[in-house]
Amino acid sequence: MPDHPAETGGVASLPPLREIIAAHGLSARRSLGQNFLLDLNITRRIARAAGPLEDATVLEIGPGPGGLTRALLEEGAKAVIAVERDDRCLAALEQVAMVADGRLHIVAGDALAIDIAALAAQYGTLRVVANLPYNISTPLLIRWLKQLSLFDRFVLMFQSEVADRLAAEPGSKAYGRLSVAAQWRCEVRPLFTLPPRAFTPAPKVCSTVVELTPRDLPRGEADPEILEEVVAAAFGQRRKMLRAALKGTFADPKAVLTGVGIAPEARAETVSIEGFCALARELARERG
Ligand code: SAM
Repeated sequence: MPDHPAETGGVASLPPLREIIAAHGLSARRSLGQNFLLDLNITRRIARAAGPLEDATVLEIGPGPGGLTRALLEEGAKAVIAVERDDRCLAALEQVAMVADGRLHIVAGDALAIDIAALAAQYGTLRVVANLPYNISTPLLIRWLKQLSLFDRFVLMFQSEVADRLAAEPGSKAYGRLSVAAQWRCEVRPLFTLPPRAFTPAPKVCSTVVELTPRDLPRGEADPEILEEVVAAAFGQRRKMLRAALKGTFADPKAVLTGVGIAPEARAETVSIEGFCALARELARERG
């Protein structure tokens, strides 16, 4: 028998997650969006969906007690950079690092504050795989979408309602700013949905794993900030006709809308991403 079986047995030799949670007193905190995944079939399914991982440097946000982290390592990830804000989890994660052959790098800190560009400069292109803390999932994704060249893919757990908005098509109720922001530069694909009971503690709603893959080219040419401005103005008053919603944006919204082939009486939720890009180009031109 080796002196330290855990060091020689790899991730599979670690104690079960429930033991780790009990040993480190990791009672879930709502303020940190803590809904843990303890079912190995589920963590493995997420890790496999993100694969193959042999050449991937995975950025995991919120590893918590380390369930998904273990699955990512077991699926052969080249490296996992795990960013965790809850200091109580760090000792548990160190235990995983000890049997991870130097592949697990733990970063203690706030995912909203870390310098992603510096991480990418150090480790190379990143693949984000995470069961995200639901309270900051949207701001995190918006931030990443603005630095898309640092990433090759995202496989992320969201509340299903957010996943629906990410993947929504024009004409649907869920279609809005988030749909345009995500789909302008990524292919968005919902992969599978999990019921509340899959998590500990169980949240109130279902969750969906979504894959976002950066496109080679965006779905339409536009300046990102101007596009965001037009989309925000259009959806800011989503019940209004566009010619009214865009009054503060364009000098003559009716003429601009007609010029790009959008009915001035249409509402924001019916406009395609390409249509919003055309409006953004018009606004850039108007501003010279
Ligand atoms: N990955 C674990 C799992 O699947 O069981 C935990 C997922 S849990 C939904 C979200 C995790 O994100 C928690 O561990 C929480 O402490 C962490 N977290 C919350 N806010 C964070 C932040 N701002 N930066 C980094 N981690 C954060």
